[in-house]
Amino acid sequence: MYLLIPAAGSGKRMKAGKNKLLINLQGESLIYWTLKSVFQSKEIKWVGIIGQPRDKKQIMNSIKQFSNKVNWINGGNTRQESVWNGLNGLPSNASKVLIHDGARCLIKPKSIDKCATELNNVESVVLAEKVTDTIKIVNENNYIESTPDRANLWAAQTPQGFSVSKLKEAHEKAIKNKWMVTDDASLFEMLNWPVKIIESNTLNIKITSPLDLKIANLFLNNE
Ligand code: C5P
Repeated sequence: MYLLIPAAGSGKRMKAGKNKLLINLQGESLIYWTLKSVFQSKEIKWVGIIGQPRDKKQIMNSIKQFSNKVNWINGGNTRQESVWNGLNGLPSNASKVLIHDGARCLIKPKSIDKCATELNNVESVVLAEKVTDTIKIVNENNYIESTPDRANLWAAQTPQGFSVSKLKEAHEKAIKNKWMVTDDASLFEMLNWPVKIIESNTLNIKITSPLDLKIANLFLNNE
């Protein structure tokens, strides 16, 4: 299975003054922990890191032990653009691909394998967890408009996996129609293409804020 890691963000919300994937977590960079899991997965045979050229040296230095096993692809201005570049950087014989955000560094190799195995049978999968909070739809003045039924709500994570040709087609349509999305499954939904949910049952937070980093620290201490 092929796997692409979007890692070309700027880390603005983390306020670290650098790409958050270079932040230190227990002596290693965030992206190191992500790759450690990826290379423990049995199913992944090819890995592409999509990063900003200005970060290349630091990222590669921080993942030294894996650096000869990863393929570098230059990222874009948005996650969507970065994934598009990633798809175009895949070997031509890649038929299915998993996409996993570099910022979800607590992912378990078993979860990656579960997504990869399921993707062999279907055209798209998304790792997700049931929402436990009651979610509100809110208007621009911060007044609640409605409450969707929680029984149908899932929080989408990554890995998300797709047929390469279908995902390329979806991205091409998005470019043409100026659709802007924050994950790849959204493009499939806009086209009414089916996406299968795989339940995530281990902690798989996306490191976004300094608090997330503290949680990740505690989690690794307990491992
Ligand atoms: O900003 P956020 O955490 O939602 O980004 C999700 C993932 O997408 C991160 O791993 C980030 O590095 C990546 N990204 C990217 N290219 C961008 C923006 C974000 O690869 N231009």
